[in-house]
Amino acid sequence: MRNNMVDKPRTIFTFSAGPSMMPKSVLEQLAQDIIDYNDTGMSIAELSHRSSYYKDEIFPSTRNAFKELLNVSDDYEIIFISGGASFEFGNILRNLMKKCDLAQYINIGNWSKKAHDTAKVFENDGLVKRIESIDGLQKIDGLVAIRQILPTEINPDSAYVYITANETIAGIQYLSFPDTGKVPLVADMSSEIFTREFDMDDFGAVYACGQKNFGFAGFSVVIVRKELLGEVLAGTTDVQNYKKLAENDSAINTPPTVAVYTAGLIADYIKKMGGVKAMARDADAKSGLIYGLIDNSDNFYSNPVHPEVRSKINIPFILSNKDFEELFKKEAAIEGLFTLGGHRSVGGLRASMYIGMPYEGAEKLASFMQHFAEKYG
Ligand code: PMP
Repeated sequence: MRNNMVDKPRTIFTFSAGPSMMPKSVLEQLAQDIIDYNDTGMSIAELSHRSSYYKDEIFPSTRNAFKELLNVSDDYEIIFISGGASFEFGNILRNLMKKCDLAQYINIGNWSKKAHDTAKVFENDGLVKRIESIDGLQKIDGLVAIRQILPTEINPDSAYVYITANETIAGIQYLSFPDTGKVPLVADMSSEIFTREFDMDDFGAVYACGQKNFGFAGFSVVIVRKELLGEVLAGTTDVQNYKKLAENDSAINTPPTVAVYTAGLIADYIKKMGGVKAMARDADAKSGLIYGLIDNSDNFYSNPVHPEVRSKINIPFILSNKDFEELFKKEAAIEGLFTLGGHRSVGGLRASMYIGMPYEGAEKLASFMQHFAEKYG
């Protein structure tokens, strides 16, 4: 534990899908470290990645905190890598495709489609034989739901089966993950990592960008089973090569040191709050408040996702009268509630509530939504 963090109340809440809120105590610690890291007289941003501060303290401390929180066994490597989650769309394929002829992508929306489309570029360029898309959605009672994938749909010769665990834009989240048998399951957990419990042993690889649940945009964590690493696709550079990154403590080139440090502060914060189990309870409570309000609003608000797979992190909703949308955002901002617009591809409204969103933020939003519905309903 690096400091004695106590979270103080906040008055401004941002419901952005990312970059998103960070715990205030983490921001305060970081502000201090930006000026003077641990009485070194140097900013955390000035410390060399080859210094023992980084090499022996910051990096291992962050990695170990991730290992402990996510219960990662020694069978896996934990890599921190520059670049957002989109950078991993290609890297996953480069590192896990090996000599297989096929990789399968289960499509539940924008982010899985983007990962699939990136993989298709490799197919079109003749670097891999076949990239397959499996439709992972269905409609139940007119609502969007995730379809259970049949074992027969998983090709045993597939290098991996790819999923987006939580679809940030549509607000759809796997309740339980598909069983892919012996084929490694790979998950983009960008918007849900640390907010739900899962068994790492069920996955070949899990990755996530930092901007939502562990700090900074533009860097990611990749947790990957050691035995899957080794052979990479032709044209893969060292900074994209998971095995080489792992062998070099994620520092082949200059790593995103401040981002790695901040991720460690957030991991310490999560530990202090009771770990992933507590974060999952928190996500349940915060999302429950907003869904409860939506469901009891006499259709003033609505959410198109089947209750079983509603995201506990990203809640898209629409107003029965769309003319009120701009007013909703304007009046919300006056109350200190920001960035409630839906993704630019779909419009509507969306509340994203990650690790850094305090419960009071959800309460304040619920109360605002209630009053807004009473006023204009
Ligand atoms: N995957 C998911 C599930 C996301 O939500 C996002 C970003 N919102 C991305 C990938 C892309 O992340 P980045 O912008 O860091 O590339």
